[in-house]
Amino acid sequence: MRILLTNDDGVYAPGLAALAESLRRLGEVTVVAPAAEQSGVGLSITYLHPILVREEYRDGEFWGHAVQGSPADCVKLGMLEFCDPEPDLVVSGINSGSNVGINVLYSGTVAGAIEGAFFGKTSVAVSLAQGTPPDYPAAADYATQVIETLLKTSPPAGSLWNLNLPETRPGWPLGLKPVRMAVRRRYDVVEKRTDPRGRTYFWSGIEAIRNHEPEPDTDLFEIGQGYATLTPLHFDLTNHRTVADLESVKWPRA
Ligand code: MN
Repeated sequence: MRILLTNDDGVYAPGLAALAESLRRLGEVTVVAPAAEQSGVGLSITYLHPILVREEYRDGEFWGHAVQGSPADCVKLGMLEFCDPEPDLVVSGINSGSNVGINVLYSGTVAGAIEGAFFGKTSVAVSLAQGTPPDYPAAADYATQVIETLLKTSPPAGSLWNLNLPETRPGWPLGLKPVRMAVRRRYDVVEKRTDPRGRTYFWSGIEAIRNHEPEPDTDLFEIGQGYATLTPLHFDLTNHRTVADLESVKWPRA
């Protein structure tokens, strides 16, 4: 099996290295990752300026491609340029921090997997909650087992999966729960400060993740209980029921 691996924390992230090593149990891994951190960029792409790529070497050997762009850029380049033949699987992570609730929509990690799904590949985003010192090798080993199990179910081409692991604690994850994505949020936080020259500046979202309201049977809730969560996603944002409702409305015409 051939695997394209990306992330949003950048090519030097410990979660990326751990997952690259662990995924090699399943097949050949090609790493295409952002040269610098891209957390929170969502599905952004680079098209107003060129995308520079350099080769990253470790212990004297080629290790991966470092891309001056977003996770979606990395997957595009991986698919179109660096993987020949095409990969069977696209994996994004391990992200430093969970990607649960509506953070899924901001996540560069999940976006890497979405881009893989666009290309018709089975794609998995992997994130590890923080709070205790993270054990990335253990998380990578667990994630690889989950991916192996998932692949045995023969997921359809282009299927998209969001895997979250609870923070590193003895005995965690307690198991894996297939759950939906939480969608409620309580409030956003923006901290207003003053710089040394008297100008106002803001820090955005520092507490926003913790302020999510946990709904039972969701990724946000179960990860806090010590479970890994697996959420099947789709990128069709259409509200299908409402489309039907709108058909009965008399819309203006020219
Ligand atoms: Mn990140």
